[in-house]
Amino acid sequence: MGSVVGEAGGPYLRAMPTVALNTDVALGVAIPLRNARGRIARLGPVVDSILASHAYPPLIEKLLAEALTLTALLGSLLKEAQGQLTLQAQTEGGIVDLLVCDYRGGELRGYLRHDEARLAEAPDEPTLKEMFGKGYLAITFDQPVADERYQGIVPLEGKNLGEAAQSYFAQSEQIPSLVRLAAEKRGEHWQAGGLLLQHLPEGEEGRERLHTRLDHPDWPHVAILGGSVKPEELTDDTVPLDELLWRLFNEEDELRTLAATPLSRGCRCDPDYVRSVIARFPEEERKEMVGEDGLIRVDCAFCSSSFAIPPAELG
Ligand SMILES: [Zn+2]
Repeated sequence: MGSVVGEAGGPYLRAMPTVALNTDVALGVAIPLRNARGRIARLGPVVDSILASHAYPPLIEKLLAEALTLTALLGSLLKEAQGQLTLQAQTEGGIVDLLVCDYRGGELRGYLRHDEARLAEAPDEPTLKEMFGKGYLAITFDQPVADERYQGIVPLEGKNLGEAAQSYFAQSEQIPSLVRLAAEKRGEHWQAGGLLLQHLPEGEEGRERLHTRLDHPDWPHVAILGGSVKPEELTDDTVPLDELLWRLFNEEDELRTLAATPLSRGCRCDPDYVRSVIARFPEEERKEMVGEDGLIRVDCAFCSSSFAIPPAELG
């Protein structure tokens, strides 16, 4: 722990970062005297690399960039290194009818399915409702070592994905929370960022049952300061995340930054697994899957990798 005394006089304690805090990283934050904790994240090259597997139009890219940022914020709350966080939106009547992102050990992946014709009719800045129609957001925390799996589902409501995530925490976990997400394409590259703050007793985070008072006066104070963050601050990768936190909370008596988690693109599709799934289909069905080139082709929805399997290999 290093200590920097800020101009306002309060101690600013930060874990000495071993990774750069500008981009492709999630950073833990705590304001102990206000019982507030959370994560701040910024994503750049990792988003570009995930989007490069798909050929989405800009509006859809922006939505996926924000969803990946939310996934990084939530995933980095997991205590277990092998824990997995899945974000899934399943909807009808909107531009997007399926969105899936997941996180494991700092690795992110995601894809979505959208309707070209509906997108062509969309306004420049579609609302969450125009984007998803009527639907639900499911968030699944999976911690294999503790054998703990928890899924919460909330209606996709609010102005944006961040607000939908806030209602997830309010409804599903009774935790007062603030979620801000932003994504912007600068030149050829995407820059995204997000802030998640929660009112939690010291030492508690992740997805334990909590007994926080919803009306505690400390929380509105933290929510106002955190909520003042501008989208362009969240996405500006010239400003390290710890510096941005300091800007927002410099009048607090104590601000701590916690562990930093580097973020990268990771897909877990694997040829042996794909082969084993196909081998489980009845022979008749497998025959129907064989293409003109005599191979069974399976594409990974997340990374667009294509696996070509010779039917003879399936025994
Ligand atoms: Zn894949």
